[in-house]
Amino acid sequence: MKFVPSLMVLALSVAAQAQPVTNSFLKGEYAVPNVGVAKNLTREYCRSALYRDEVTYVTNRAKEYLEVRLQAPVDGKPAIVFDIDETCLSNLPYMDEYDFAFQTGPWNAWIDKASAPPLEGALDLYKYARSKSLAIIFISGRNQMQRLQTENNLRQAGFEGWTELVLRDIGSTQSTVSFKSDNRKRLAQSGYNILVNIGDQDSDLQGGYAESTFKIPNPMYWVP
Ligand SMILES: [Mg+2]
Repeated sequence: MKFVPSLMVLALSVAAQAQPVTNSFLKGEYAVPNVGVAKNLTREYCRSALYRDEVTYVTNRAKEYLEVRLQAPVDGKPAIVFDIDETCLSNLPYMDEYDFAFQTGPWNAWIDKASAPPLEGALDLYKYARSKSLAIIFISGRNQMQRLQTENNLRQAGFEGWTELVLRDIGSTQSTVSFKSDNRKRLAQSGYNILVNIGDQDSDLQGGYAESTFKIPNPMYWVP
């Protein structure tokens, strides 16, 4: 009859597990978002009209800035700097398929496909800048090996007639802020006056050498 106590223990154990547990003493669990929930919220937002509208809100502010600014004299050659990923081209199809994980092989294969769609607000700002004869400069963290694919992707997404496409050297370990601001400095020293710098990361915009900066939303990843 040894099984009787065992059954009692089991019954008590199940009863204990069935008791509701108040976890209010657990601070960390509620201080950070659950990753699964956050990913689903991010997907929902990035597929929504709200995301599209919030990107366009920012690009329209940049456009308005230029409209007013160009009524006054500009020293040097007026220019606008665009970041590429999540500013001009959307990588949402990749992010969705790979669950927001950056994996070198699949990421490079995605770049090679050159099929990222445009962010419509950025394309509109781009066309406006061209209509005002601004020099258009892309400064991107993509590398030199990806130049041809990036140019093809930009063209098929509707971006035509840029002045310069600045990419990272292979194996560069320079920080994003340093790489991007060094290039803006070089452009400024060669006679460009960067009126607007627009990107989806703070690191696209820090370090000076632009008259104004505009930050597009990107909840999918962070580039320090
Ligand atoms: Mg970007």
